[in-house]
Amino acid sequence: RLEIRNLVRAYGGRRVVDDVSLTVMPGQVTCLLGPSGCGKSTTLRMIAGVEMQDAGEIWVDGNLICDTVFRVPPERRQIGLMFQDFALFPHLTVGANVAFGLTGSKAEKRERAEEMLSRVHLKRFIDAYPDSLSGGEQQRVALARALAPRPRIMLMDEPFSGLDNRLRDGIRDETLALMREEDTAVLLVTHEPEEAMRMADQIALMRDGRVVQLGAPYNVYTRPADKAAVAFFSDTN
Ligand code: ATP
Ligand code: MG
Repeated sequence: RLEIRNLVRAYGGRRVVDDVSLTVMPGQVTCLLGPSGCGKSTTLRMIAGVEMQDAGEIWVDGNLICDTVFRVPPERRQIGLMFQDFALFPHLTVGANVAFGLTGSKAEKRERAEEMLSRVHLKRFIDAYPDSLSGGEQQRVALARALAPRPRIMLMDEPFSGLDNRLRDGIRDETLALMREEDTAVLLVTHEPEEAMRMADQIALMRDGRVVQLGAPYNVYTRPADKAAVAFFSDTN
């Protein structure tokens, strides 16, 4: 379970993340949805630990992992990352990419890599190099790599943009199936209402650094908090 409490980040006196609080439950997807510049990626970077917050706390499964004085380093947070520009390592095979963050013996790592690759239907590429795969296949490998170490939390920043519609649907479904099986708590960033409606158990609608509405997709969509929320939903659809 991921809990963030009263997270704040300011650049040059402007609060780009302004008192954001939310909880993501294991096996569920929360979407951070909002227009460009509203603070989605900054929120994710603070949770990942690659950027420090100015105020607020981050908790994973009841343990404090970061406040303004205490800080668990990024690699010890049990958080998986999947960002659009988070490419595979070109000099490693597909199998080695998936095994990259794993601990254990060589055989154990290979076995886990095989298991994850079969689950995204790409086991046949285990000894191939990433550049011989299509874009969609590479993204499925990235998904397998991110989930291989069984992270408690998965952070995804627009991970499906740049894919055509048909591929995107498949990868979305695979993502949902995998994270439900592994009971991972997923925080997914998107600026597309359609993607949030499709994937989320909970939507956090963001604007100007704040969460203006938090709830089930149906409720957020049918009862937008204010006029700007209505405009956001109709604009981009
Ligand atoms: P998008 O949908 O375009 O990715 P976003 O919601 O992810 O947008 P952020 O990247 O979190 O938005 O940025 C929020 C605001 O903070 C933006 O106005 C951005 O210009 C500003 N910002 C982000 N990083 C920095 C930085 N290092 N220095 C100054 N301003 C920054
Ligand atoms: Mg962003």
